[in-house]
Amino acid sequence: MTIAKEITDMEGMREALIEAKRAFDMHEVPVGAVLVNQGKIIARGYNQVESKKDATAHAEMVCLKEAAKYLDAWRLSGCVLYTTLEPCFMCAGALALARVKRVVWGAPDHRYGIGELSPSSIHKVEYAGGVLEEESAKLLKTFFQLRRKENAGRCC
Ligand SMILES: [Zn+2]
Repeated sequence: MTIAKEITDMEGMREALIEAKRAFDMHEVPVGAVLVNQGKIIARGYNQVESKKDATAHAEMVCLKEAAKYLDAWRLSGCVLYTTLEPCFMCAGALALARVKRVVWGAPDHRYGIGELSPSSIHKVEYAGGVLEEESAKLLKTFFQLRRKENAGRCC
């Protein structure tokens, strides 16, 4: 029997940042996520709201769907999700419904972040924020600065 090596929060967040950069290259708001089960990454996702024209295609949702397919189960007990941005209410709700054990996030989301609130009293997800916060936030900042520059160049 091989015992899977645990993934550290930093390692998990580095992988989530790879996904966020993928979103950046696709001109999507750069948010990325990975889901870890027993020390192994079983799903990856990045924000695809623009390309899919789907307001719910957040990195976390993409990840949850992929993980469910991989495990052939909706219940993701024991899994840890790493996401570069603090989850919004929709994603926090989905993460609780999927019974995800723990969520680690990078940059805070001051508009839609869940803060200390838990959307479920049935399943309490553990949250840990601020892992590789600077790198996660910098990618978002760069993205929005570029978008503003593009828009400034446009004629009204
Ligand atoms: Zn979300």
